[in-house]
Amino acid sequence: MPNAMKPSDTAIVIGSGIGGLSSAVILATLGFNVTVVEKNQRPGGMLRSFVRKGVHCNVGLHYLGALDRGQILRRCFDFLGITDQLPLERMGHNAPVDRYYFANAINGPDQFDMPVGLDAYESHLMDAFPAEKKPIRTFMEQLRANAAEFHRLDFLYNPRPMANLIEQTEPLWTFLDRAGCSPGLKSVISVPSVWIGVPADQCPLFYHTMILASYLFSAWRLKSSGAHLVDVLQQRLMALGGKLVTGRAVQRIDIHKGQVQGVTLDNGEPVAAANVIAAIHPKIVLDLLAPEDVKPSYRRRITALKDTDGMFSAHALVPRNGHQAIPHNIFSVRTTPNGAVDDVIYVQLRPCERPGYLLLSLLTSGHDALWQPWQHTRSGQRGEAYKRLKQSLAHRMIRQVEPITGPYNELELLDVYTPLSIRDWVNSPQGSAYGVMRSSRQLLSAAALNRTAVQGLYLAGQSIMAPGVLGTILGSLATTKFMIGPERFRREIQL
Ligand SMILES: Cc1cc2nc3c(=O)[nH]c(=O)nc-3n(C[C@H](O)[C@H](O)[C@H](O)COP(=O)(O)OP(=O)(O)OC[C@H]3O[C@@H](n4cnc5c(N)ncnc54)[C@H](O)[C@@H]3O)c2cc1C
Repeated sequence: MPNAMKPSDTAIVIGSGIGGLSSAVILATLGFNVTVVEKNQRPGGMLRSFVRKGVHCNVGLHYLGALDRGQILRRCFDFLGITDQLPLERMGHNAPVDRYYFANAINGPDQFDMPVGLDAYESHLMDAFPAEKKPIRTFMEQLRANAAEFHRLDFLYNPRPMANLIEQTEPLWTFLDRAGCSPGLKSVISVPSVWIGVPADQCPLFYHTMILASYLFSAWRLKSSGAHLVDVLQQRLMALGGKLVTGRAVQRIDIHKGQVQGVTLDNGEPVAAANVIAAIHPKIVLDLLAPEDVKPSYRRRITALKDTDGMFSAHALVPRNGHQAIPHNIFSVRTTPNGAVDDVIYVQLRPCERPGYLLLSLLTSGHDALWQPWQHTRSGQRGEAYKRLKQSLAHRMIRQVEPITGPYNELELLDVYTPLSIRDWVNSPQGSAYGVMRSSRQLLSAAALNRTAVQGLYLAGQSIMAPGVLGTILGSLATTKFMIGPERFRREIQL
């Protein structure tokens, strides 16, 4: 520890996902002596891509929003000091960012293109639903107001944060009904929130509009892989004097008389620190605390929180001779007769490391109940029946998207993962993909999760504010603000 450093400036960050790494870089920038502890051998959590037969397969990083100069994620990346090291490509040049295909379109078109820009989005909606100009204007007015407030980062810098946004707890679906939207229009508008695990009839309007706006501001892909972003963050942390311990789980958060003392690792080694930032799921934090450390009411509140569902995913190699890379994302959407989005399959077909091949990546909801028979098993030890079920579901999902992308006559399956794989990889309860569900029903109990009654113990990660790279970094900033106080935050963290 440098001589001038006070013991109160020491921090341990539990978990090296984007929540942990961004928190650590922010604190190291502020002069804290930071150590990140990660249970896996390799850092990055869901951000980290894995390698199969020499090909990087992404898990929790497919595309990013708001990275144009001056936009929110760009300002965050600039503050973290990582923008210049990332090979990014902007999506949406003379092409959509997302293309939605509706397998059973009700009253709208069976295809809808998500462009870059709020104006372009409005005009695409008007073209697709020419009889619904009034409801579209009503929705766009709200979207524009929320996007502007979000862009100003009022919730971090305004003394009365997000006054307008927080009042919009009404679910998206109710708002769209009130505005007079048809089922087809409702299904088009609601895809983004459903995609991150919150059904439109439970998704607070402000939450939906923030997610939608962040991708309408601008959309980007990393030309490399999630592992590269992790490497860049890790290097930045090292350059700022931070440390990273991998292959060691935190077994206990040590607390004495309501004050954090540090953590104990799974080899029994204690590590002292005045601050602990647990950038892991809040329910996993409870497992690291003794019964007397937090009030039973806090424990009950966290335990009762509903999480988003898990994801099922397949990655496969496809020969280039029959297919071309697709520059946009594809969403194959199935809706109920009233327009509610029932099922989504997400598709990317991109260049990869294997010459002559493209990487096909597919994602859909985890169908968590299917994997119940294996819930007491660990990754790599689930046996043949599990493998067969994974393979057959992967092939079924591939067949479902073939009418859109063309047939995959020759295809080499590289990997298939289920919610149980995610659960074991990052300690996410039941393999929840996006952590605590930010639904209208549990807005209050899911609010201010980063604060605990224990002095020096804070929470970060995707459950704090919103999931995604942007949402999770904003959560890290909100936690830092709480740690150092709003005045120092405003003075030293200028995004
Ligand atoms: C399939 C999928 C696709 C996605 N696509 C996108 C996308 O395209 N764009 C986007 O912006 N977002 C996307 N996301 C969301 C984004 O990946 C997540 O919101 C984000 O990665 C979550 O980061 P985190 O730090 O909160 O959690 P995690 O990444 O889960 O990190 C938690 C870390 O803590 C470690 N840990 C847990 N317990 C302990 C312990 N006791 N001791 C030490 N370490 C511990 C874990 O091993 C893990 O490394 C996607 C998510 C999924 C699942």
